[in-house]
Amino acid sequence: MVKKSINKQKISPFKICDISNEQPNIAELGREHISQLVKGNGADEHDVRLVASKLENFSFTVMVRPNFQEKLTENKIVGNKGAGEVCGSKEDMLQKIAVLKQNYAQDAHILFLLFNKLKKLPHMGWGRDNKIILDELTHNYIYSEQCSQCQGARENPCSKCHGKGNIPCFNCKGFGLMDCLYCHATGRVADGQGGQKECPKCYGRIKTKCTECLGKKYMICDLCRGSRYIPCKNCGQTGYLSVQTKIEFEILATATIDEKQLPTSILKLYEQKGQEKLATELHAKVTLLASDEVKKATELIKEEIDNNAEASTNPHAISVAENNTQNIVIVDNHILHYLVEIPVAKAEISIAAKRYGADIVGYQAWFSNIDNFIDILIKPAIVALQKISKGPMAQQSLINKALKYRIIKEIFSNIGKKSKGQIFKMLKFEYPHGLSDKYAKAAIKFADIAISKITEKPKIKAVIASSLLSTVIFAIWFLVPLRKFIQNMDVNTKFYIDITLLAVISFASHYIVRLFAAKSLKKLVASYNSGDASNIKEILPPAKNHGIYAIFITFAIFLIMAYMSPVSPLWLSKIGIG
Ligand SMILES: [Zn+2]
Ligand SMILES: [Zn+2]
Ligand SMILES: [Zn+2]
Ligand SMILES: [Zn+2]
Repeated sequence: MVKKSINKQKISPFKICDISNEQPNIAELGREHISQLVKGNGADEHDVRLVASKLENFSFTVMVRPNFQEKLTENKIVGNKGAGEVCGSKEDMLQKIAVLKQNYAQDAHILFLLFNKLKKLPHMGWGRDNKIILDELTHNYIYSEQCSQCQGARENPCSKCHGKGNIPCFNCKGFGLMDCLYCHATGRVADGQGGQKECPKCYGRIKTKCTECLGKKYMICDLCRGSRYIPCKNCGQTGYLSVQTKIEFEILATATIDEKQLPTSILKLYEQKGQEKLATELHAKVTLLASDEVKKATELIKEEIDNNAEASTNPHAISVAENNTQNIVIVDNHILHYLVEIPVAKAEISIAAKRYGADIVGYQAWFSNIDNFIDILIKPAIVALQKISKGPMAQQSLINKALKYRIIKEIFSNIGKKSKGQIFKMLKFEYPHGLSDKYAKAAIKFADIAISKITEKPKIKAVIASSLLSTVIFAIWFLVPLRKFIQNMDVNTKFYIDITLLAVISFASHYIVRLFAAKSLKKLVASYNSGDASNIKEILPPAKNHGIYAIFITFAIFLIMAYMSPVSPLWLSKIGIG
């Protein structure tokens, strides 16, 4: 995991050239890169010569287009109060914002502020969609609006009585009558002589007048006390709200390269890397330039600060102004520009007595156009590997031939450790120029086949050796039997112990195959492991089919020994054996 992240950060296999130095001779730098690539790959450093070169410095400007986007934060305050610039209405405020936006784009002072912000960003904000908020542009507006609840009336109809002023009597539910309490709503009462008589209160009608509303059916609303309205809480009885609005401007500062102005070689670099990497990978020198107007604004501000300085003002403001008055170049009115400088070179380079025309671009000497010079150099190595895969004839001399090449050594070192795809990616990173995909893939493919071929016999030996090992171990376990020590454990535990033993021995068998293959290969390539910058590190070839054979045989021996055991495991009968 750690290794991977380091690889991601690595942007070039070459030493990064510093662009702050005097302009380097990129044709010479390109020659050095090629030397580095071909060295140990069928050629030597002095086989690479710069025959001819023509250097040019290409520069172009890219306009920064600031796009102002307002962000509104509303805060409603009760009544006619609050701070901020007063507007007649919301529409009035929006109108003011629109005018501000229009003016900002042409305001030299604001461009100056933007210029300062961009300059502090990595690579001066080049190649990114920079969103910048300038505190200086924050405004506060305030306008009043009628209360939306009471419509300015300062009071609302009572919610309990719905503006009627009274509510139905809770006791009689608005009927005006209630059950007679005297006769318990029977209409009759005892007459005192054992009989019954008509209720003297309700006269037999069961109901009497409601005692709460006295038969009026309604009661005065207790919320509005009969006034039918209650004061509006939303506006604090003022009928108005003040909307205080904070406005921030987010400036999207983008600068997009116009591809039409680029020559082909630079266009290729741009298409390959993208705009941002031109600066981050130091292919181009990118500077932010301010216009004449911005320069004037800077001077004005500086003057202002100087005048105030005697009266002792903000020391921070002074330092800011001083820092930013430098490096301002007059380009155009009202705009900011990036100046992009990219060296280009047309060169003729001789590589191992063959001449190549090349277009070299940028401070890192990126080749936009050169024939695949490595392909031609490593072809004999690929042919040798191909021959190995065909038969055992002259194996040692063929491998000697192939391993003279650094690329082949790198592939050999990584086969069995990395996937073929990963090795391919590694090669394409280490050889960004001169090696075609086709040749890279062929080299990996035939190296893999050759290793399989070379290690075939030792792998067969390894399968036999590992079979003997498993036979001995399983015999000790099942036949001696060492297994009786776990006799008292429960069935499941015994099963897991058996399976664990099988897994360990299978893994060991597989590993033995790889070890045998590695040992034989080491012998064959031993002569290349000294005195070279790119030694073959520990090779651990893949076990492939022989690894599967070893595991399969181990499993078979395991079953046979288990079957032959005097204390035959219970799981054996469960799978239908024994
Ligand atoms: Zn109101
Ligand atoms: Zn009654
Ligand atoms: Zn009532
Ligand atoms: Zn009411």
